[in-house]
Amino acid sequence: MSTLVMKFGGTSVGSVEALNQAAEIVKAQSSQWENLVVVVSAMSGVTDTLLGCADAISECDQDTYARLIEALRTKHIQTVNKLISDPDEKSALTDSIEQLLHDLDLICRSAFVLGEMTPRGVDTISSFGERINARLFAGLLRQKGLPGQAMDATKLIVTDSNFQNAHPIMEDTRGKVEENLVPLLQQGKIVVVTGFIAANQQGVTMTLGRGGSDYTAAILGYALDADAVWTWTDVDGVMSADPRIVPNAQVIPELSFNEVGELAYFGAKVLHPKTIRPIIEHNIPLWVKNTFNPMHPGTRISQERQSIPGKITAISTIRDLSIITVAGRGMLGVPGIAARTFGAVAQQDTSVLMISQSSSEQSICFVIPTENARSVIGALEEEMALELIRKDIDRVWAMDDVVVLSVIGAGMSDTPGVSARVFGALGRAEINVIAIAQGSSEYSISMVVAAEDADRAVRQIHRDVIENEKGSE
Ligand code: ADP
Ligand code: ASP
Ligand code: MG
Repeated sequence: MSTLVMKFGGTSVGSVEALNQAAEIVKAQSSQWENLVVVVSAMSGVTDTLLGCADAISECDQDTYARLIEALRTKHIQTVNKLISDPDEKSALTDSIEQLLHDLDLICRSAFVLGEMTPRGVDTISSFGERINARLFAGLLRQKGLPGQAMDATKLIVTDSNFQNAHPIMEDTRGKVEENLVPLLQQGKIVVVTGFIAANQQGVTMTLGRGGSDYTAAILGYALDADAVWTWTDVDGVMSADPRIVPNAQVIPELSFNEVGELAYFGAKVLHPKTIRPIIEHNIPLWVKNTFNPMHPGTRISQERQSIPGKITAISTIRDLSIITVAGRGMLGVPGIAARTFGAVAQQDTSVLMISQSSSEQSICFVIPTENARSVIGALEEEMALELIRKDIDRVWAMDDVVVLSVIGAGMSDTPGVSARVFGALGRAEINVIAIAQGSSEYSISMVVAAEDADRAVRQIHRDVIENEKGSE
């Protein structure tokens, strides 16, 4: 049985024209595959609006959340009116959207009365964009004569209880997919599943993190043992840099799982960083394609790609970071300082993006999101209180407004001279590198630069290293 999972991102389902285009793409594929699952995001901007409702509730601002819900009603009802001509379909869809918005309103109202916005509440509220859109898209498919049926991923994807960043439990998910999704596929339905959302083992609504619909598609691809997963977005594929920073960034025709894993981890928004985890396990090829330019082949991501020695494929950045330094002459040769440092960081529920220690052992520095910097410094000062009094550690401090810039390429491993080319480019642009780390996989080199230098650094490396190499291939 051939099975394809396709995901359409927010802009791909963000307007009447885009929804029509996406539905035409589904129609074109429907005759090519025995099983077709479509994952949809909320219409673009909707998840932000829902999170705006949650924020307004935490600030006890009833007017704002009520206004935002009204705006969502107008947006979706207008879309249905423009998109759906069949009167029965239109009235059924309108009713189900009204019902969902009524539920949303009730949830918001109770949170407002309680005067509390819990992480659980945030996930429930932010799930409504996908819930509405899956119904809308399934209705549109039916209008085009296709057997579309909407399904909430809360019935399919089982996760832990980590709100806003839930982790799937694959065994349970497979069971639910067998039970609830496979029978519909066997009946010949094209099932339209909500991206981004899931449920924990108690059935409470969870979300997979911002941009999580890519991950939904990969999880379903895994659970169905799909032949391929395609994610449809608003650019021609994965590009050599963020096209908003480097206008002449190139589409990368082929990438390995490892490369795309590093690229997504290091901030390329085009794929959720966890997307490839389930895909790798079953070796399912993943394609990134453009809804608005469907004839373009896009990017193929798979295990087999042949890497070109020494080649840097792409560059990406993570922003809003701080670099924390723990420094002091008394750290030399003392075992356990690094373990205690990272133990204290972990207790603050903060993930460390990059670590570097000077070989003289007189300082450890690491990069974390700025929003966690103050609490991490507090925790470190407490953990190292004795060392600070004894002056074994001079101080613990944060430098804010830094960016991690990563160059990625499977061909970098075992090839000397790659970092020289990158640092040469930065030197020519007179950009100061604050810290450096190379992953042991050697698929990436990361460096920390000041936020104000980041865009210039990306453009310089792209021009001198990535574009120049293209000519010499
Ligand atoms: P979707 O809603 O379809 O999931 P996203 O906005 O999440 O789309 O991701 C696509 C966007 O990611 C593109 O419009 C582009 O601006 C941005 N982007 C950042 N880095 C890259 C990259 N290396 N390749 C392609 N797109 C990138
Ligand atoms: N709608 C969600 C978000 O905006 C998930 C996604 O688009 O992938 O983050
Ligand atoms: Mg996305």
